[in-house]
Amino acid sequence: MVSHIDVYVVGGFHTLCLFCPPALNHGEKTMPLKVKIDWNTCIADGVCYAICPQVFEAGPDGKSQIVEQYRDGSETEGNVPDDLADCVEQARTACPTGAITVEKA
Ligand code: SF4
Repeated sequence: MVSHIDVYVVGGFHTLCLFCPPALNHGEKTMPLKVKIDWNTCIADGVCYAICPQVFEAGPDGKSQIVEQYRDGSETEGNVPDDLADCVEQARTACPTGAITVEKA
């Protein structure tokens, strides 16, 4: 009898328990992402918030900041749910200055 399946999420395969309460599986699948924006290198061209407005927005001077919902103490740092990982990764790779860094929280 199959009780677990392997599912692919960003970063590798994770085992999904078929009989566990949803909260347990949610906790196993969901690995928040720590997203940082370096304002010293951001040139305020708006690429990231055009690609991923769920996470990035324009700050007062046009430099990118994390949307309020996901901020972690400052405009330039946030904890983002991994269901937005594709969005964040597209923005990170498109950023012309490498101002966005992403790591597992
Ligand atoms: S894509 Fe990079 S340089 Fe452009 S606004 Fe976003 S963080 Fe700044």
